[in-house]
Amino acid sequence: MNRLLLLIVMLVVSLQLAAQLPTDVYQYHIDLLNVADNKVQVTLVPPKNQLQTGKFIIPRMVPGYYDALNLGQHISAFQAFDQTGAQLPVHRVDTNSWSIKGLEHVGKISYQVSGGWDNLLQHTAGAKSAESIFKKDSLFILNYSSVTGYFEEIPDRGYEVTLKKNPGFYASSALQYTRQNDTTDKARAVDYRRLVDAPVMYCIPDTTWIQVGNTKVLVSFYSKEHRSYSKVLAARLQTILFNQQAYLGGQLPVDRYAFLIYQEQIPKGLLTDGLEHSNSTVCLYGSTALDKLPEALIGVASHEFFHILTPLNIHSREVQHFNFLDPVLSKHLWLYEGMTEYATIHMPIKEKMIGLQAFLGVIERKIKGMDGFDNKLSMTLMSTNAIRMQDQYLNFYQKGALVGLCLDIRLRELSHGQMGTQELMQKLIKKYGSEKAFKDEDLFRVITSLTFPEIRLFFKDYVEDGQPIPLKETLQKVGLDYDAAQQTVTATRNPSAKQLSLRKAWIDL
Ligand SMILES: [Zn+2]
Repeated sequence: MNRLLLLIVMLVVSLQLAAQLPTDVYQYHIDLLNVADNKVQVTLVPPKNQLQTGKFIIPRMVPGYYDALNLGQHISAFQAFDQTGAQLPVHRVDTNSWSIKGLEHVGKISYQVSGGWDNLLQHTAGAKSAESIFKKDSLFILNYSSVTGYFEEIPDRGYEVTLKKNPGFYASSALQYTRQNDTTDKARAVDYRRLVDAPVMYCIPDTTWIQVGNTKVLVSFYSKEHRSYSKVLAARLQTILFNQQAYLGGQLPVDRYAFLIYQEQIPKGLLTDGLEHSNSTVCLYGSTALDKLPEALIGVASHEFFHILTPLNIHSREVQHFNFLDPVLSKHLWLYEGMTEYATIHMPIKEKMIGLQAFLGVIERKIKGMDGFDNKLSMTLMSTNAIRMQDQYLNFYQKGALVGLCLDIRLRELSHGQMGTQELMQKLIKKYGSEKAFKDEDLFRVITSLTFPEIRLFFKDYVEDGQPIPLKETLQKVGLDYDAAQQTVTATRNPSAKQLSLRKAWIDL
């Protein structure tokens, strides 16, 4: 070996060693290139620490899905090595956690991750959209909750993820991926929650970008059978996104958003599965053809996109410091899901996409949707117990949305038309934003101080105590008659000027 070559070899070796030294962040290497047996090889260099033992966690639960997913079930061949390469003792505590002795000396941890499912018709226990899938040489969807973890003793650290991938693959995600070379990408996240909150889809790109105000929206599509379809979907999504932008006052509180859409051919019917994140949505579709896809996507997208308001920019400490093993849930699902769904149904009338008759039909469907749920349950209690009360959970999209409607009209009434839920949400974003969490027990008091003293009673009666919401009297204020027996809502004949003026403030009609 000549000297120059020796020098180069030494340099390369020292660079490799340097790359493996612990820093302040979690350094992950994920190999999507050398997949064998549906398993992906993962290595981790944990942050520098002085811990004699550490508990490594892969989530049992993830935000937005109210049942145990036990994502640790996909992990195998878990090993830890010290900086000389000697193995450290590891004990698997349960499905989702491992205890490592001598963590202060750890140089590297390695394990394998199995893909969650092969096709949409396959039976799986949890939500497919929360799992990762590996289709060697064609597609990878990584939900980082099933691929990466964290040490209980070392929370709130940054993540640096290096991915090896096929040369033609492109990373679609709400996070920025920077290309190192043909087969290597890098991504960073400020903490575990933010990493898990931004899944990535790797495949040959079929992507279209839409500019909505100052937000770049990525529409990324994968189907084994169909190519170049993202532009068709993007064209359809564009209209609704522009209307959402107008509804939110012209400015969106995020720079980037991503729709990651997977389509699979199934024999008949339409199958959809989606999980929302703060800046992205994973949408899985099984269909015979593509023709029903745009409508189905718009239905999902209009709700999911509004999540950029809450929980992303308005959330409690329980959301900010989500415990992935044993979460304490926030009281405020009426806000995260109810107000999101209310904005979804309110926006089309406010932005003149639909007329009054169509809107009344939407309200009627929400009212009928409450049938079969317990109408006397406290919504704050349903929220903290969402895991145990799964049979009631879907009422946040029915009654929760109607709580939003009643709150909106009450606010318009008290403010002589000046303030509704649109303005309230903007005030809350200003006060909190993505980095500052509210205290769960403070929220009603804060909203009251931002609005009117009467609003505290509204929350007490209809959200905390779980009284049936005052639909009849509320709708009457805007010149609408609610027939509880028939579950119909019709425009009042000869409404007063007062009713009409409040209706105008509420829906601009
Ligand atoms: Zn939602």
